[in-house]
Amino acid sequence: MDCLFCKIAKGEVSSEVVYEDNKFIAFKDISPKAPLHLLIVPKKHIESINHLELKDKELIGELFLVVQKIAKEKNLKGYKLLINVGRDGGQVIDHLHLHLLSGKPIQVP
Ligand code: AMP
Ligand code: ZN
Repeated sequence: MDCLFCKIAKGEVSSEVVYEDNKFIAFKDISPKAPLHLLIVPKKHIESINHLELKDKELIGELFLVVQKIAKEKNLKGYKLLINVGRDGGQVIDHLHLHLLSGKPIQVP
């Protein structure tokens, strides 16, 4: 499958990794919209929130615990989380990912 985030998860494409375990990888967004802009990505290829199945519910719970772990490690005072879904929702990469933005107030319309 020709998926950029699967390739990053497998180490076939390089990225600035800030966290990794057997189920998740988190790396710096190549085009940051805030002083800290991370993408937190389940290694399992799930296209989007719309493609989640019941069996993924534990993984999605763990995704937020990974966020918490990174926030603690980086001593973040606050941050914003964003998931784009579908082209009309601004999703460009069709592999589920969570944006973590921090470092200045970010206005989301
Ligand atoms: P989305 O619009 O939610 O699909 O977000 C995709 C994000 O991936 C964008 O913020 C891009 O800047 C980011 N991105 C694209 N290619 C790379 C890459 N090679 N490494 C890190 N981030 C990337
Ligand atoms: Zn993928």
